Amino acid sequence: MIGKRAEFLLTDGAKISGRVMNIQDNALIIKLLNGYNVGVLIDEIKEAKELDEEESRDNRKEYEKSLRHEEHKNSGEKLKIQISIIHTGGTIASKVDYKTGAVIARFKPEDILKMFPELNNIANINSRLIGNMLSENMRAEHYNLIAEAVKEEIENGSDGVIITHGTDTLHYTSSALSFILEGLNKPVVLVGAQRSSDRASSDAYLNLINAAYFIKRAKMPGVYVCMHNSINDDDSVIILGTKARKMHTSRRDAFKSINTKPVALVNYKEKKIKVINKPTNTKSSGKLTLRRFNPKLKVGLLKSFPGINHELIDFFKDYDGLVIEGTGLGHLPIVENDKFTEENSRVFESLKKLSRKMPVVMSSQTIYGRINMNVYSPGRMLLSIGILGNFSDMTPETTFIKLWWLLSNYNTDKIRRKNLIMKNFRGELTDKSDESFNIIES
Ligand code: GLU
Repeated sequence: MIGKRAEFLLTDGAKISGRVMNIQDNALIIKLLNGYNVGVLIDEIKEAKELDEEESRDNRKEYEKSLRHEEHKNSGEKLKIQISIIHTGGTIASKVDYKTGAVIARFKPEDILKMFPELNNIANINSRLIGNMLSENMRAEHYNLIAEAVKEEIENGSDGVIITHGTDTLHYTSSALSFILEGLNKPVVLVGAQRSSDRASSDAYLNLINAAYFIKRAKMPGVYVCMHNSINDDDSVIILGTKARKMHTSRRDAFKSINTKPVALVNYKEKKIKVINKPTNTKSSGKLTLRRFNPKLKVGLLKSFPGINHELIDFFKDYDGLVIEGTGLGHLPIVENDKFTEENSRVFESLKKLSRKMPVVMSSQTIYGRINMNVYSPGRMLLSIGILGNFSDMTPETTFIKLWWLLSNYNTDKIRRKNLIMKNFRGELTDKSDESFNIIES
């Protein structure tokens, strides 16, 4: 098979053709027509068809024709803009380690451009590396670092910034950057991938190219996430940074816009941007300032569950703030109904003590919908002890990031007095009127 040209159909439906260069452990290394190598795990190959000379000549001709078509289309485009790509790591910046079959983070900034030269058709790209980490390892210091890099790029003349990032905590970072970057007057788009960039089935290309196209054409300042809209390689969805959430472990369309419609759908191939919900709360003062996180603060995120005990609430007594992922409209087991529920009263007492010491904010583990602690009497009990966040429709993650950011930039007294948790800073809270589309797609 080595040296032969072949066409492969992969288990996820992707089709690739090229020359087989090598077999490494459990993968074939294939040189594509554009000259780049990809690795394909043998297990993922559903069908392979060897191409004869004529077929492979036809394939090449078709590829060259499509390149000429691209060039022709692009020759008419206006002057190129400048886009900076900041790399932080994650699957998008990872390669398959063909020895183990596992994905490891090992990417150089230039690699992205080498793999996806089409990006140069949209903009002049400069790339910089901040880190090569899996996103679950990120901490508040990294949010500050990324924001500083974004500011530098914009001050050096960038028309927009793309941040490549692991998907697991991408929505925490998009929220954090939304809050830090005050007066942002350029688009900043976070992009990830569920399959590493060197795999034929990778979603990296579409997300990157559509992010670049969105920056170039939409000219909408703000922080956004750009990921697959469906499992197909056509539209990417643009989601406001404070309203995004990863809702699936592995699907390419894992990111959803929670409690508000997505900002736009982008399709570079068809040169189309469909604006659905242009953000109104991303006013720019024109002067970009950084309002950083204080990494020394301790902020907690606690999920309520049946049988929770008061020691778990007391655990947070030395923290600076706590977000609770309550059940439903914003509940915790705090009411004593019978001989089995005595502990619930102790949970309530512990919460009361905690809420006197620090802001304690409610969010919902249902993810979709809005907190309403007025509906049931236990909700009213929580309000009476000062639990914040009534009527919030922020995700638990955005609530957590916002509380940390507020504590980093305002004193506790002001946070309470002005109910800053419910002040809309970056589009993180939506109007009640905007609730008609709370659909979880299967
Ligand atoms: N867990 C890793 C991360 O979030 C890999 C997942 C990904 O990038 O999609 O960085």
